[in-house]
Amino acid sequence: MRLVILGPPGAGKGTQADYIIKKYNIPHISTGDIFRENIKNKTELGNKAKSYMDKGLLVPDELVIDLVEDRLNKEDCENGFLLDGFPRTVAQAVSLDAILDKKDKALTKVINIDVKPEILVERAVGRRVCKSCGATYHIKFNPPKVEGICDKDNEKLIQRQDDTEETVKTRIKVYFEQTAPLIDYYKAQSLLLNIDGQKDIDKVFEDIVKGLN
Ligand code: ADP
Ligand code: ADP
Repeated sequence: MRLVILGPPGAGKGTQADYIIKKYNIPHISTGDIFRENIKNKTELGNKAKSYMDKGLLVPDELVIDLVEDRLNKEDCENGFLLDGFPRTVAQAVSLDAILDKKDKALTKVINIDVKPEILVERAVGRRVCKSCGATYHIKFNPPKVEGICDKDNEKLIQRQDDTEETVKTRIKVYFEQTAPLIDYYKAQSLLLNIDGQKDIDKVFEDIVKGLN
């Protein structure tokens, strides 16, 4: 399975990605996670990306595309992958087609998680992530067993720097302007699997699996 998961910030892409990669045994490639890791390690790429991410803006295409191509060339992607947070612009989508073409491969499906904008702010602002393993929780919709502590490794949960109300609103606006056009792009290629992301987490996953089978 060569999959893309698409949707606005806070739609539930990362949450569903965790379930999908386990079920289909494919690597999870999240460009947001890759940037955050680079920021943590203070790399040159991390320094460049941080100024855009803190403002809720997209990192320029030229900083993203080569990075994804390198990642897709790794051996663990031979039998498939799940791209989360990429592509985010039409230019990135066109590049992805070219990268896969070179390998004589194509996408299997593009999962589009649909959630109304007014729900997204509450989801993203209430998101908490494990600073060590990256597991995602929500203070109200998906709380950990012990407040502020990761169920998996007992590490502290933190709030992402770009999950403030103001930055989330910018990110949602950027999504509708620059990323939402990809819905039509993939619909035209008959790749789109539309999923109602406003149901419970388990139900959303059930719908995805049904749609992929
Ligand atoms: P994305 O990767 O699309 O930005 P996440 O998967 O990180 O979104 O989810 C955003 C927040 O919403 C997290 O706090 C997550 O726990 C919560 N969440 C995810 N899916 C649902 C859902 N179906 N119902 C309620 N809350 C959800
Ligand atoms: P979310 O899960 O809320 O949708 P991500 O973790 O995917 O957010 O992305 C966080 C930030 O990283 C984005 O706001 C953007 O600045 C940057 N980013 C991630 N992926 C891309 C991409 N493909 N193109 C440009 N910027 C990106």
